[in-house]
Amino acid sequence: MKNLKDLLIQTSQTPIFLLKGTVDLKHYVSIDLSTVNKELSHINISDPHQCQAYIEKVLSRKNAKIAYGGYLEKRSLYKVHSAFNTSVKDERNIHLGIDLWARVGTEVLSPMDGKIHSFKNNAVKGDYGPTIILEHKKKDIVFYSLYGHLSIDSLNDLYVGKEFKKGNVLGRLGEPAINVNYAPHLHFQLIHHIGQKKGDYPGVCSSAEIPFYSNNCPNPNLLLKIDAVKID
Ligand SMILES: [Zn+2]
Repeated sequence: MKNLKDLLIQTSQTPIFLLKGTVDLKHYVSIDLSTVNKELSHINISDPHQCQAYIEKVLSRKNAKIAYGGYLEKRSLYKVHSAFNTSVKDERNIHLGIDLWARVGTEVLSPMDGKIHSFKNNAVKGDYGPTIILEHKKKDIVFYSLYGHLSIDSLNDLYVGKEFKKGNVLGRLGEPAINVNYAPHLHFQLIHHIGQKKGDYPGVCSSAEIPFYSNNCPNPNLLLKIDAVKID
């Protein structure tokens, strides 16, 4: 696993911008959607309109275009979706990707060369909506990147094995009716071993599952470098 982390770190010395039109770190502001953010206490963050209003407030503070964050963040965002929770003890509320909150229709760019592993519309409310998974191979290490909450037309003309070069347009951000009830954003997640999963992979886990998933799904910022990342 250490090898994948090293590979991600070494892939680029400079930031990789996943959303078209954002070519400078000054366009980015980090956002805290965790349970400890007191600003969220009076907001129903599961409501896409209230969530969007909060995101715009955060963006306007820094005059930014993209609000990002969320890796291993404990969130209350998923409480309303029964698909995430079977019991309080096993509540799945730890977020395993990075979210980039931006305008609907914003084009999503491939961060590195890869090919389509699988794609699917995970249309259950609270899930990913239209989802693409790319497979990457570099220095004999195979790993995957997942793009969730896309527009439905992002899945047009795809086929398993279709190649994408770094910077190619992979899709667009979907609206709440399609991305299944979230303010528009990209869920970007790295996956080392994907097993038999196709077009889908857990994007949240329970506290007990953190050791496994944090190892199998390393911090996307190791690759993206849009934030200072502590490397263990
Ligand atoms: Zn997410």
